[in-house]
Amino acid sequence: MSRLRVEYEPRLVEEAVLRAAAGRPEEAEFRQSRDRLYELEDPDQREAAFLALHGQWFERLGLCGPVEEALGERPLLVAQVRRCAVVRARNKKEEGAELFVSPDPGLGRALGLQLRPESFLAPAPLLGLLRHELLHIADMLEPDFGYEPELRIPEDGMARRLVQERYRVLWDTAIDGRLTREGRAPTRVRQRRLLDFARAFPMLGPEHFAPFFDGDHPSHPALLACARDPVQALGLSGVADRRCPLCRFPSYSFEPDPGRLAPALVARIQARFPAWQPAQGLCRQCADLYRGHAVGAA
Ligand SMILES: [Zn+2]
Ligand SMILES: [Zn+2]
Repeated sequence: MSRLRVEYEPRLVEEAVLRAAAGRPEEAEFRQSRDRLYELEDPDQREAAFLALHGQWFERLGLCGPVEEALGERPLLVAQVRRCAVVRARNKKEEGAELFVSPDPGLGRALGLQLRPESFLAPAPLLGLLRHELLHIADMLEPDFGYEPELRIPEDGMARRLVQERYRVLWDTAIDGRLTREGRAPTRVRQRRLLDFARAFPMLGPEHFAPFFDGDHPSHPALLACARDPVQALGLSGVADRRCPLCRFPSYSFEPDPGRLAPALVARIQARFPAWQPAQGLCRQCADLYRGHAVGAA
């Protein structure tokens, strides 16, 4: 791996080691070495000895593995930060990565990771979390991404929170799509991101999700524009007035290729709407509805 200095907060290391050693065959050996340190009388010496012991066991139990592996996968990121500090997160929500940019150019950038001690006990989910978080940081460092730390938007209050949430959904989608193609994403992540997307953008369909998940070069301005005004950003304004010929509701989300609908489905629709032809299209909701067998009985 690189020569990046990774510094762990001592109480994070201690707590992770205490939890990880519990129940392992080496636990007795660890406890004995640890108990002996209480006999040291000089408090500074004792403190230093605890620090060293916990550090050794942190490595010996392989707890540094996921952080090293995740950093090793992002050499371009690692080359751009001078140090990495890993500190204790109080809860799951706090876990993640941050980029610190010193106003003093000599000090450069630092990567901060906040993790819970118990997360080190489950290396696979921890690696998954780190991979996702480090890709956020890699994007921030990529000039073509055009990252800005503050969302410079006129919206405030509820509207601002809505834009922030949509922006988060889009960026997470763009991250997990790339991790999937690298073979580094958890299974079924596409499905989970699609659900997030559908909740955040009820006016859009799955065909609008795909470019975000499948694209390799997301950019901050493009994500933000879509978060603020998806209809405008995706050029759907004309579609907004388009009504579904079946349900008569305006929809942004039409079945992408109605010419290729299954003949049985077309027959089922024409049983209710004899004049309808596939070329007229239909909204996704109707397509899904008629795909379900319940409709035939209705
Ligand atoms: Zn994320
Ligand atoms: Zn419809």
